[in-house]
Amino acid sequence: MNIVYDSPEQRVIAGYHWKMRELLGSAASRASRYLEEIQNRQVQPSRAAIAGLDRFLETMPGGPTDAGTVLSFLDDFGSPATVGMAGARFFGFVIGGALPATVAANWLATAWDQNAGRFAASPVATVLEEVALGWLVDVLRLPSECGAAFVTGGTMANFTALAAARHSVLQGVGWNADRDGLFGAPPVQVVIGEEAHPSLTKSLGMLGLGRERVTKLPVDAQGRIIAEQLPELHGPAIVCIQAGNVNTGAFDPAGPIIEWAHAAGAWVHVDGAFGLWAAASPALAHLVDGYADADSWATDAHKWLNVPYDSGLAFVRDPAMIRAAMSISAPYLPMGEHREPGQYTPELSRRARGIEIWAALKSLGRSGLAELIERDCRCAERFAAGLEGSGYRVLNDVVLNQVLVSFGSAEKTTRVIREIQADGTCWCGPTIWQGQTAMRISVSSWRTSEEDVDRSLAAILRIAQSVN
Ligand SMILES: *Cc1c(COP(=O)(O)O)cnc(C)c1O
Repeated sequence: MNIVYDSPEQRVIAGYHWKMRELLGSAASRASRYLEEIQNRQVQPSRAAIAGLDRFLETMPGGPTDAGTVLSFLDDFGSPATVGMAGARFFGFVIGGALPATVAANWLATAWDQNAGRFAASPVATVLEEVALGWLVDVLRLPSECGAAFVTGGTMANFTALAAARHSVLQGVGWNADRDGLFGAPPVQVVIGEEAHPSLTKSLGMLGLGRERVTKLPVDAQGRIIAEQLPELHGPAIVCIQAGNVNTGAFDPAGPIIEWAHAAGAWVHVDGAFGLWAAASPALAHLVDGYADADSWATDAHKWLNVPYDSGLAFVRDPAMIRAAMSISAPYLPMGEHREPGQYTPELSRRARGIEIWAALKSLGRSGLAELIERDCRCAERFAAGLEGSGYRVLNDVVLNQVLVSFGSAEKTTRVIREIQADGTCWCGPTIWQGQTAMRISVSSWRTSEEDVDRSLAAILRIAQSVN
């Protein structure tokens, strides 16, 4: 067909549209093929695939390269060198997959190229954040009045919530930390558990509260703070508890700790990067009993909500405190009557993470989210039963989606983990839990089924029995 153009400009524009359609079509078919293939390929990339990354090590190109060539180069040498995290049998760290609706929404939103910092810059991003926020406090059983920030991950969520905490407890003794800084401020006592996540201590460092300048509370064999051994609190204080230990999945006893902290006027912050999602399952919600009485919460959407990277969430009961810590103003940034996302986050320009969170919750619904969380926990129990049934020691009480297993000595366990990764049926990482070397299994993907567990268990047991 001959298309008649009114002008050369129109011909150029039509050419762009045609090229873009071809390019995005190619990206879609490459991505779909990738997602099919990783179900059956080794989870860990092969040595040859990693060696293939050498193809990227070239000097800065002197001139342009056609976009289609850029994409095929990326697919040819990049795709094989990925770890199959988007597949069903990746059990390292706590890494969720990305739900179909979230991958698709992410692509469309990328084409939109919205800056999510302000309503004026992106009405749709702002409204979807607001809608997602309402749904999130509902499924996570948090106070409806919360202010919230959509940030990169659990680390920044801890940082953002703790910035609000710092502002609040110092305001309580007449000091404005955000205006006047910390030099000369009354000291803030910070209390954490011995098994707090390192991102929490990193956040404390970034906030000028000190990574080491903390009171550490003793924990039990599951990593839970021992509520019978709480010290006295003096002056402004922040107490950090954990919903879901990154090794054991255990929950600190929120009820007695929050009661003790609040009696002393302290702020209670919850690191619930993955554990807080237990609230979304009626069968598991008892694990978060009492947690809604805290003052702030951090969680990750890129973990158990299974949205693409990166996506973390900070919630603060008193929205004025998060705004005090994160506000920004300039004559070129007039305030409208809408919730302005940039008043809640460390960042101003930001990608529109609320869109994928909205898409995940819209596509799953309450029942779908509960089913995802519960199935992953059932899969963790199935792993534990299979390993124990074959005589291997599971080191933790499997209360959530985490399993720690020892295959004997530290050396043997380390060798088994290496062989499991090289075998490629599944991927599990190492850890040291309270002095014992263990393999860590985290089940957090929507794609993982009981058959995936059985296939992985068969490989793990075969390898564990052959390694000595
Ligand atoms: C993963 C995790 C974090 C850090 O989250 P990122 O998204 O990696 O920054 C913090 N706390 C706990 C308990 C976690 O599991």
